[in-house]
Amino acid sequence: MDPLALARPEILALEAYRHAAWDPRLERLHANELPWRNESDRSAAGLNRYPEPYPEALSAQLAALYGIDAPSALVCRGSDEAIDLLVRAFCAAGRDAVLVCPPTFGMYAVSARIQGAGVVSVPLLRERGYTLDVASIAAHCAQGGVKLVFLCSPNNPTGNRLLETDVASVVDGARGHSLVVIDEAYLEFAGADSHAALLAHAPHVVVLRTLSKAYGLAGARIGTLIADPRVIALLRKVMPPYATAQPCIEASFRALTGPQQRETQARIRTIVDERERLVARLALLPGVTQVWPSAANFLLVEFADAGRALEQLAATGLLARDFRGRDGLGEALRITVGSPVQNERLLRSLA
Ligand SMILES: *Cc1c(COP(=O)(O)O)cnc(C)c1O
Repeated sequence: MDPLALARPEILALEAYRHAAWDPRLERLHANELPWRNESDRSAAGLNRYPEPYPEALSAQLAALYGIDAPSALVCRGSDEAIDLLVRAFCAAGRDAVLVCPPTFGMYAVSARIQGAGVVSVPLLRERGYTLDVASIAAHCAQGGVKLVFLCSPNNPTGNRLLETDVASVVDGARGHSLVVIDEAYLEFAGADSHAALLAHAPHVVVLRTLSKAYGLAGARIGTLIADPRVIALLRKVMPPYATAQPCIEASFRALTGPQQRETQARIRTIVDERERLVARLALLPGVTQVWPSAANFLLVEFADAGRALEQLAATGLLARDFRGRDGLGEALRITVGSPVQNERLLRSLA
């Protein structure tokens, strides 16, 4: 199946913007930049210059990091931009829809509404540990009009990984009808394999990865969209040129050096150990009614009185995410696993 059969016809027909030529061997008198760097400019390339129109070398390095072929990778300004590009390229306003499984990451629905696309909601099954309602998703896809199915594994804010058999069923049911976008923003904390391997037999699968969470680079806004090369080529037409800022490109290369990667792996192990410690300790607190198991770097915690818990946290200078009453969540807070010192403070403030 050609995944571009699902794309908006006007995007397929679009001619991409022609940016200024990129040839680092020649001196640049073609892009109306200043020839001098500012005194404070510590960048390698010089911020007086436009960055590479698309960061090819970084893209290749991210493809290697994620174990995929270079033409299947697209560097985006965080997964947030990846979500937005997909919605704009595949969903026609007033006609097409995305499908989301709440409670989940809010940007899928926000991007769809900005585009004027519909939002079909198929809630996760809370009584089965926030698993997918596979039959209902397949039925919506078969009806037509759902161009993108957004799955998130591990899911934000519930923390659980989706069941592999369920993901496989959704991918099967969507074939010929919808792209299935699997957001793996927290995969590094799950110790699980990426769904990118599905692409070999399912060109309608898209996987989202990011340097924002485990790699400690949220401020640089570097995400990678992994898809069939035809989808990547289409999205590159929609993406503005020079989208990835030079300081962010350089920060990403530094984050991907051997020593920094070893440090990152050690930090991931620390966060996972701390997560399991917090799960056990939080469950013993009198005001806590449920701690959901998590494969990510946060915990969904339900309290007898979440408002009171927020006040207790604020009194010690800590902030948790308030999910009270959202998407069927009751007295729930999402708490990020912090440093061991922060986690001790969290436990003491709630005790
Ligand atoms: C944090 C988060 C993102 C955002 O990632 P960026 O790469 O920083 O844009 C994407 N998806 C989920 C589920 C997230 O929680």
